[in-house]
Amino acid sequence: MLKVYNTLTRKKEEFVPQEPGKVGMYVCGVTPYNYPHIGNARPFVTWDVIKRYLKHRGFEVKHIQNFTDMDDKIIKAANSEKVSWQVITDRYIDGYFKAIDALNVQRADIYPKVTEHIDDIISMVQKIIDNGYAYVVDGDVYFSVEKFPQYGKLSGRKLEDMLAGARVEVDTRKHNPMDFALWKSAKPDEPYWESPWGKGRPGWHIECSTMSLKYLGETFDFHGGGSDLIFPHHENEIAQSQCCCGDFHSFAQYWLHNGFITIDNEKMSKSLNNFITVPDILKQYPGEVVRFFILRTHYRSPLDFSEDRIKEAQAGLMRLKNAYDLGSELLGREGTTEKHTNLSDIAQSAMNDFYEAMDDDFNTALAIGYMFTLSKEINVYANNVINKGAEYDAVHFARLMDVYGKMADVIGIFEGSLEMPADASSEGISTAEIEALISERAEAKKNKNWARADEIRDDLKAKGIVLEDSAAGTKWKKA
Ligand SMILES: [Zn+2]
Repeated sequence: MLKVYNTLTRKKEEFVPQEPGKVGMYVCGVTPYNYPHIGNARPFVTWDVIKRYLKHRGFEVKHIQNFTDMDDKIIKAANSEKVSWQVITDRYIDGYFKAIDALNVQRADIYPKVTEHIDDIISMVQKIIDNGYAYVVDGDVYFSVEKFPQYGKLSGRKLEDMLAGARVEVDTRKHNPMDFALWKSAKPDEPYWESPWGKGRPGWHIECSTMSLKYLGETFDFHGGGSDLIFPHHENEIAQSQCCCGDFHSFAQYWLHNGFITIDNEKMSKSLNNFITVPDILKQYPGEVVRFFILRTHYRSPLDFSEDRIKEAQAGLMRLKNAYDLGSELLGREGTTEKHTNLSDIAQSAMNDFYEAMDDDFNTALAIGYMFTLSKEINVYANNVINKGAEYDAVHFARLMDVYGKMADVIGIFEGSLEMPADASSEGISTAEIEALISERAEAKKNKNWARADEIRDDLKAKGIVLEDSAAGTKWKKA
C-alpha cells in the first residue's frame, strides 16, 4: 500500500487514485530567466523518481509541468540585455531541458506556457469574478481572501495571523492586504494582452490553476513543488481553483513538497556566493552522480550540498555500477547448474524491501540502501564464479540481476556515463568555454586590447591549455 505525506492534512495517507490505474500530477515548473540551480534540480529529480515508481507499479501517469514564461524577472533580464523576452525564455527553456536530460529526468507529457494560455487564464479570472470571489480595480483584478473561508488551510496559517505578521504595503485599493492579483494592468513598456479589464498580464498564481484544470480536470491526484511554494503560491492556487469551479473538496488531493537544499550548511544565495547552477555542477560531475546525490536523502528532509557529500555519492554510485557490470558480465556466460534457488529468494525479498521503502512516501534513501545490500550479493556470487570457479546457476542469477535492474530503473541510474566528457580537462573547463575565450581573445586583439588578450592566454595556460597562433587562426592543445 502506497502512503504519501500530504501537506494538506499534515500526515501520511494511503494513496487512492481518482481513477483506478491512473495518476494525474501537476508540478510547478520554472521561470526561465536564468539557468536552474541545484535547489531547482531537487524537485525535477524528486518528481521524476515518483513518476518512475508509479509507472513501475502499473499506473498510467499524466504529468503536467508549466513554464512561467512571463514574469517581472524575465522582463528585467530582457531589458538589461536589450533583447525581447522571447530571446530570454527560449534560451533558458533550452537550458532547462539540457539540465534535466543530464539528470536522467524523463520529460513531462505537456509543458504549457503562460503566454500560450492567455485566453484560458482570462476566462478563469472572469469566472472567479462572476462567482463573487474577485473584484476589479483600475484594470487590476484581485482575489478576495475574506470570501474564501478555507484560505490558509494548506500552509496552516490563519488570515488574522498573516495580517499581523505580514509586511504588506498599504494598498488602499485592496479590500484586504492579503488579496492577491489574478490580473495585473500593464505598466508602460511591458508586454501586455487585451482583456475585459484592459491591457495587462496574468498574476503569478493563476496560470497553475488554469493549466491544471485544462489538462487534468477539476480534481486530480498529485500537486507538487518545493516547500517554498506552499505559501503563497499553492495556497493561492487552491483559493482560485476551488472558487472557480467544483466545491471545496475539488482540485489536487495530495500535496507533496520537497525540502530545501543548503550549501555547506548555509542557505544558497547569490550574495553569499554559494549559488551553484546545474550547468556549473555538470562541469565537475556527471549528471547521474548529481541525481544520485539528491536521491540519497528522502525528498522531504533538508539536503546539504558539499564537495565531500557529492564525492561520497559518486563513490557509492560507482560501487553499485561496478556490481551491475560484473553481474552483467556473468549473465553473458553459459550456466552449468540450476541449484542456487536461494538466489531467487534473495531477489524476491530484495524487491519486497525496495517496494516497502518506496511505498513509504517514496523513501529513496532507504530504497538505495537495499540496492547496496543486493549489490553485495551480486559481487560475492559473481566473484566466486568468475575468480574461484564456483558452480554457476544462470537461471536464478538472472532473477537477481533482473530485480537489481528494476531498482536501477526506478532510481534512474545506470543510464548515463559515470565518466566526465572527454573534453573536460582536469581544471573543469569545457571545449565550449575554451572556444569562447579564444574568440573573445581574437576580438580583444582586433581592438588592440593586448592586455585582455594576454590575460586570456595566461588564464588558459594556468588551466593547462596552450594556445598556438598562426595565420589560419588560433589552435589550442592540452599542455
Ligand atoms: Zn504553480
